[in-house]
Amino acid sequence: MSPEAGGRRLAFVGAGAVATGPAAPGPVRRPAWDDVGLRTGVGVGVEDGRIAIVAPDDEVGEWFHAARSPDTLVDCGGRLITAGLVDPHTHALFGRPRLEDHARRARGDDYKLIAAAGGGILSSVADFRSRSEDNLVALARPRLAMMAALGTTALEIKSGYGLSVEDELKALRAIARLSREVPVRVVATFLGAHEVPAEYRARRDAYVRLVIEEMLPTVAREGLATFCDVFCEPGVFDVDESEAILVSAAGHGLSLKVHADELDPSGGAELAARLGAASADHLGAISAAGVEALAASETAAVLLPGTLVFLGRTRQAPARALLDAGAIVALATDFNPGSSPSANLPLMMALAVSQAHLQPEEAFVAATANAAHAIRLGDGRGRLVVGAPADLVVWNCRDVRELAYWYGIPLAWRVYASGSPCLGGGWGLSSPGSAGTLLSPPMS
Ligand SMILES: [Zn+2]
Repeated sequence: MSPEAGGRRLAFVGAGAVATGPAAPGPVRRPAWDDVGLRTGVGVGVEDGRIAIVAPDDEVGEWFHAARSPDTLVDCGGRLITAGLVDPHTHALFGRPRLEDHARRARGDDYKLIAAAGGGILSSVADFRSRSEDNLVALARPRLAMMAALGTTALEIKSGYGLSVEDELKALRAIARLSREVPVRVVATFLGAHEVPAEYRARRDAYVRLVIEEMLPTVAREGLATFCDVFCEPGVFDVDESEAILVSAAGHGLSLKVHADELDPSGGAELAARLGAASADHLGAISAAGVEALAASETAAVLLPGTLVFLGRTRQAPARALLDAGAIVALATDFNPGSSPSANLPLMMALAVSQAHLQPEEAFVAATANAAHAIRLGDGRGRLVVGAPADLVVWNCRDVRELAYWYGIPLAWRVYASGSPCLGGGWGLSSPGSAGTLLSPPMS
């Protein structure tokens, strides 16, 4: 290459190991150690926000110094480098936390008693509707900075606390603003069918029609979402209602996702596979037929082990059966104020190992390459490959298995999204505990 070539260059050398991820593009069905892509003695070079070189340290050093204006040379001091993590299922745009629900569950109340006491998802809906787009963006921004500080450089965010035309559009416009304001990659999902709002309880058909006839055409026309998701669960939206909404969404050009078989089996996973959805998520109560359907499809099985732990459930999704059958398994936080107030994807990797019997290499692929597939990023994210956006994390550990081991402990030392620093002086936080804004709004 010409010594004069090159824009803004960063280089990372002195790593103890680099885990580049699976060699071939696309998802991995039965991740093995080879798919971690572990290399030693190599560094990573970044130019104009993209990965430009992954090569032995001395070559990366030469490449860096050949730049007209080399920017930053990071000595990783024996640390591990991986691609940034990808969180393919969050509800990160919300108002206040649901502290009382948490306390009630500890006293033995089920979700019906909690809802009857004014809690549950509809309390988040009432709270969300009372807030402005500006306020919601201001609340979400430090939460995204927290996620980045924990190693997540791409994530999906769903609407679904608005449940009216106006409030769902407010949610998606807020998500669009966030995606412009932060360096991490944000993908938007329309989840108007998250729940039937209180004012439609006696006429659910009318709410399904509102989603199909008013919300979806507007969301599609304004280009506000990549995906449409439905909460397909007994007592929420049944398979027929879910299918009607998803088929309509596909007709508007949206890709599909399904909250499927979370607590009770309903055929949600089968529906997701049949419609060619990008993912079927939760799957705590998936049937054997559902496992087979996902294994035979390109639909990712997105597991959310933190949700079931936080809800106090002892059962997890049958991750081993899904993996052994050949399904594409991914992991996510489900970050939301009701059932999973955690933005920590490495914590979910640890829970996936300890609670759902994944091997550490399976958890790593599930939170990187397969998670990128679950939100159809298709741009190389989830891997350290030349040409991909430079989303990478330098971790305060040496072994990739440690990411799924030190559970709950922040491990990221440096985080870059498209070559922009998210920790240590750039956008975001100087450390995981230093959010400039409180995570929760004032209590009313
Ligand atoms: Zn969810």
